[in-house]
Amino acid sequence: MDDCIFCKIASGAIPSAKVYESGRVVAFLDANPMSEGHFLVVPKTHWRDLAAVPAGAAAAADDAATIAEVWQVVAAGVAAAVEVFGGGANVLQCTGEEAGQTVPHLHVHVIPRPKGGETPPQFSSGAFRYASDEARAATAAKLDAAIAKRMQP
Ligand code: 5GP
Ligand code: ZN
Repeated sequence: MDDCIFCKIASGAIPSAKVYESGRVVAFLDANPMSEGHFLVVPKTHWRDLAAVPAGAAAAADDAATIAEVWQVVAAGVAAAVEVFGGGANVLQCTGEEAGQTVPHLHVHVIPRPKGGETPPQFSSGAFRYASDEARAATAAKLDAAIAKRMQP
């Protein structure tokens, strides 16, 4: 993708403060960090966002290896953040403008949260209530079917 900023970072055409690089994945410090050490884990394959990643039978072995490595680097990156800064870390992925996505090339944020640092903004748990147990079950069934469709071998 010629006009994609993260493709350009992945190819080295635009400089970045890299914290990991392999043939499939690159990770680099965020230009507008939420905390010290905030970095992004990015597949070199141009997928628009997490919803664009092929799963199940649609995933070529190469795609599966790439997405597996992305999550391995996220896990290693969280462990590294805990080691380097103490405390904990948040993992954030934004798919779609409605979710706050500003760069349309898949990336996962790793945001170190040092001990004694500012309390991170909390997600609004409990912000939604199901009207009934039946409504909750219907929602679960819809998601179950949609995930199964994508995951089928
Ligand atoms: P999003 O809101 O799409 O989840 O996050 C995009 C992130 O990419 C933002 O946190 C932003 O600071 C970061 N970003 C955007 N352009 C660049 C860039 O050219 N270099 C780096 N290192 N980060 C960038
Ligand atoms: Zn791209």
